[in-house]
Amino acid sequence: MRYYLLLIFIILSTSLSFGAERIQASNIRFNGTPPQMVIDMGGSTKPKYELNYDEVNRLIFIEFKNTKAAEQFVSRNVNGSYVRKVDVVRYPTSVGVFIHLQKNVDYKLSYRSNPVRFVIDFSKRINKKEYTIIIDAGHGGQDPGAIGFKKYREKDVVFAVAKYLREELKNDFNIVMTRSSDKFIPLNERARIGNRNRGDLFVSIHANSAAAASASGFEVFYYSKKSSPYAAKVAAFENSFGEEYGEDTSNIAQVKGETEYNANKVQSAKIADDLARSYSKRLNMRNRGTHGANFAVLRGFDGPGILVETGFISNSSDVWKLKQSKYQKIMAQEIGKSIRNHFY
Ligand SMILES: [Zn+2]
Repeated sequence: MRYYLLLIFIILSTSLSFGAERIQASNIRFNGTPPQMVIDMGGSTKPKYELNYDEVNRLIFIEFKNTKAAEQFVSRNVNGSYVRKVDVVRYPTSVGVFIHLQKNVDYKLSYRSNPVRFVIDFSKRINKKEYTIIIDAGHGGQDPGAIGFKKYREKDVVFAVAKYLREELKNDFNIVMTRSSDKFIPLNERARIGNRNRGDLFVSIHANSAAAASASGFEVFYYSKKSSPYAAKVAAFENSFGEEYGEDTSNIAQVKGETEYNANKVQSAKIADDLARSYSKRLNMRNRGTHGANFAVLRGFDGPGILVETGFISNSSDVWKLKQSKYQKIMAQEIGKSIRNHFY
């Protein structure tokens, strides 16, 4: 009898010490189709709650007032296609649930009774094309670009890669091609097309060439007034095609002032570095690195830009990849991936 009295005393004092009865958040569940997260509250009382969303960190924060969390109501790594992880924080009189979303995910919270629960439906953000990418396939028309091993022409190879890149990106970005056929377009007109269409990034696609047939590999350039002697040589080579077809490339002016020039350079170099690493690894090609140089086609564009030398058309093993659509697709995928990484 004494034992039961003691037990009743303990139960009473415990519930008294908590004051008003709190709602218990009992469980967090995920359903696959449609993709949703369910927060079970148990019982029949709907808690007051506050929801905030931090767009920059893609973080939903819900605070349930006068609520405590059950033992199994805990943080977890989800790593799904919609939710990265969930953090549960126990406050003195409330429970905080932080939901870290993956990229491009929309959410909608709704309440259900009997039993009380909150349901968050997730969906992928589609066709929200915020950015415009200018894809510039080098050379074209009477300008074949570099003629390589077994007479493969730069203009054909880079146009194929450019088209695959357009396919790769068109669902997520507005795409403008400086040329969509085998057509000659002067360098300054290419930059102008980019500016007219308010491009957020200019991607010029080329293939390198060298007198030494052994020279091979992948490299990415961006516009810089200063350059190494090697990068200056590559830029002079690409610029020379403009000159050869009657264009005075020195007339192509840098559009914006120094602040923009520096900001664009930093961004361009970042994309270039990311791309050089992943491309050479995936294609098993030598990574010749990234370089700043005075490329006329990049100088005239008002924004960050990269010039991709997809490989050496003068090298037999690079050409073996450059000529095959299977590898051209992979090249486009890698370029596309770095662009996505940069914007999203
Ligand atoms: Zn070229």
